[in-house]
Amino acid sequence: MTVVTIVGGGVLGTMHAWFALERGHRVVQIERDAEARSASVRNFGLVWVSGRRDGDELVLALRARELWGGVGARVAELGFRPHGSLTVALDEVELGVMVEYAASAAATERDAVLLGPDAVRSVNPGVGGAVAGALHCRADAIVEPRVAQPAIRSVMAATGRYEFVDRCHVVARDGTSVIDHLGRTYEADVLVICPGAVHDGLAGEHLSTAPLRRCQLQMMQTAPLDVTLTTSIADVDSMRYYPAYEHVDLTPLGPQSAVAAAHRMQLLLVQRLDGSLTIGDTHRYDPDTDPHAGPDTDPPHTDPLPFDVDEDPYDHLAARAEAILGRPLPRVQRRWSGVYSQLAPAAGDAVYHHAELDPGVVVVTGLGGRGMSLAPAIAERTWEDLAR
Ligand SMILES: Cc1cc2nc3c(=O)[nH]c(=O)nc-3n(C[C@H](O)[C@H](O)[C@H](O)COP(=O)(O)OP(=O)(O)OC[C@H]3O[C@@H](n4cnc5c(N)ncnc54)[C@H](O)[C@@H]3O)c2cc1C
Repeated sequence: MTVVTIVGGGVLGTMHAWFALERGHRVVQIERDAEARSASVRNFGLVWVSGRRDGDELVLALRARELWGGVGARVAELGFRPHGSLTVALDEVELGVMVEYAASAAATERDAVLLGPDAVRSVNPGVGGAVAGALHCRADAIVEPRVAQPAIRSVMAATGRYEFVDRCHVVARDGTSVIDHLGRTYEADVLVICPGAVHDGLAGEHLSTAPLRRCQLQMMQTAPLDVTLTTSIADVDSMRYYPAYEHVDLTPLGPQSAVAAAHRMQLLLVQRLDGSLTIGDTHRYDPDTDPHAGPDTDPPHTDPLPFDVDEDPYDHLAARAEAILGRPLPRVQRRWSGVYSQLAPAAGDAVYHHAELDPGVVVVTGLGGRGMSLAPAIAERTWEDLAR
């Protein structure tokens, strides 16, 4: 039996553990914190097919969506919901750019159709604002990020071939063996390192020269809303950021509002199983190598990622969400920021970063804002590659 060590307790490490067990391997997964606390629990839980770029990114997204359905069928607490999404137009200009997209093959490939205002309310009665229409992507889905990792682990533990080691910082590597902060050695046949945005840790020598950057996002969560939302929701600004829309002429939209442009914002909104709303987001890059950053309007940041959150983006998000929902938001209960590892523009068309550091030693990271969506398909591919 192949013995596998996985470093990293986020969704990517967890999905690598899941598919290693599917292949009959024995797995030890190591996490430095008491529980995963990084990007994998701070996200929306969106399994987002709608925005994915043509080519390998879309292939991975469609495969991952299928795999999430399978994981969800076996892990009830994951809360997998194939609910689709609405990218909402608040006026006729916004609807106009969606009309162009809906007529394209790209929309068909992502199972996206254009809806008028009545159809929007029929698909999601919680959309009570004066909306002009929406793109309805039926391929999008939702999972519960705060409970996903422990829920999946409890099913993996039932195999008798899985062990999770928490509060264990892996500090060194010798071939496929790793050593933790207490000097304990973990021997394995295969080592998979999924360190997320920790680019200066275990695989730091390799990752420091890889085309990677970190991106920080601001998020919030409200108290439960008194109506049920039957889809996730995005605003038209999401079309400015997701590559699926890069062939659409967005010039009729004009510039983003000043706060949205300064913080590179879009509205994404997901209702949790308890009725609360997860709402975001902003984007701040480190180092700042955003290809969309205009030199005049958006000077590069040279300071470190901030440790505090800024209130202006939250005001913008609340106003957009209330316009779409047609009702005041419940009280905000929580605010946080999260950081993910992302490919820098120099990485070209690659979808994520992966490298074999030594025979049987693989590092995988750099999934950007699509890691929750793609993780199962990427993990499946890692094991297919290792089996060759
Ligand atoms: C605010 C926010 C919203 C997002 N929304 C979405 C979304 O809705 N849909 C989507 O598809 N993606 C989303 N993403 C992106 C997604 O969350 C990430 O791409 C994904 O979680 C990355 O998973 P990971 O396992 O690679 O990294 P992480 O979640 O960062 O996990 C890495 C883990 O490795 C551990 N670790 C690192 N080094 C060591 C070591 N030496 N020893 C032991 N442990 C170590 C860390 O402690 C950490 O727990 C979002 C991200 C953020 C921040």
